[in-house]
Amino acid sequence: MSTGLSMAAPDQLEPVRRFINTLDIEAGTDALDDWLDSTDPDDLHRARELREALRTAAAANHDKTPLPAAVVAVLDDAARRADLVVAFTPDRHWRTASRATGVDGALGDLVLRVLDAMTAGTWPRLKVCARDTCRWAFYDTSRGGTGKWCAMRLCGNRAKQEAWRARTLRARGSAS
Ligand SMILES: [Zn+2]
Repeated sequence: MSTGLSMAAPDQLEPVRRFINTLDIEAGTDALDDWLDSTDPDDLHRARELREALRTAAAANHDKTPLPAAVVAVLDDAARRADLVVAFTPDRHWRTASRATGVDGALGDLVLRVLDAMTAGTWPRLKVCARDTCRWAFYDTSRGGTGKWCAMRLCGNRAKQEAWRARTLRARGSAS
């Protein structure tokens, strides 16, 4: 049954969305260990850095705000380590590929997917929930591309309830 609330991204971006969501902020669980085929602390650190850089980059897609320099640096570093190359293909197109193996190659694959999505025009719709305690990555399928909250947890409703409660408390405070 389709609810119209699917949050999955197009194929090319779905692994990026899932990677960001290996950290479930609301539940307080981190599945990065399962995603990453390595127990090396440096690998884990780099993967975590890239994950948060991607989360911030997706958050910037809400208002098209510039990316912080630190985020750009992390993305650039991942691309450099991935040892990206451009290769032409027989079907008169070209593709990018990563020459790196292991964790650098795996993280490079995510960077490539972001590049492809930027080229395809789907990247601006990868967002993270605007509710601070959630920040779940979702693909914005709203017609105008103005979705702010993930649908799965009904964060839009919760955010509105929280705003209403805050207004009510303020009103009570000013009345007493
Ligand atoms: Zn949410």
